[in-house]
Amino acid sequence: MCLFCKIINQEIPASILYEDETTLAILDIAQATKGHTLILPKAHYPSLLEIPEDLANQMLTTAVKVSKLLMVALQAEGCNILTNINEVAGQTVFHAHIHILPRYKNDDLAIKFTAHEYDLPQLLNEILTASSS
Ligand code: 5GP
Ligand code: ZN
Repeated sequence: MCLFCKIINQEIPASILYEDETTLAILDIAQATKGHTLILPKAHYPSLLEIPEDLANQMLTTAVKVSKLLMVALQAEGCNILTNINEVAGQTVFHAHIHILPRYKNDDLAIKFTAHEYDLPQLLNEILTASSS
């Protein structure tokens, strides 16, 4: 059984912030920012990409609810909501989850987008051609 399934089955303790029939919100053991929280589906799926649409909707609903709760409780000024899919994207636990990262002025979380030059019409064509075949 995977680590998060063990947490869901209460075989491993966790700080549970919110729970409903299909989702669970727990504090991340390594707080990247104060209040860093994970939204888990109670059913096991390796990543968000395998999750049925209904459950994905429920996870997003929980993510929004918990983000608002955290921002008010901890006076955060914003938050990042993200999910890592596969090792290349930084996924380390292969039970789907959404990270909620409350943001504060002068916190030390670095999420950096560097712009790269691509020919956008050509790129669009490449994607659409591949996805229609
Ligand atoms: P990923 O890298 O897969 O997107 O995120 C996995 C997250 O799970 C990491 O942020 C990591 O700190 C967190 N994590 C790993 N083990 C545990 C644990 O035993 N309990 C809790 N609450 N979080 C964990
Ligand atoms: Zn699992």
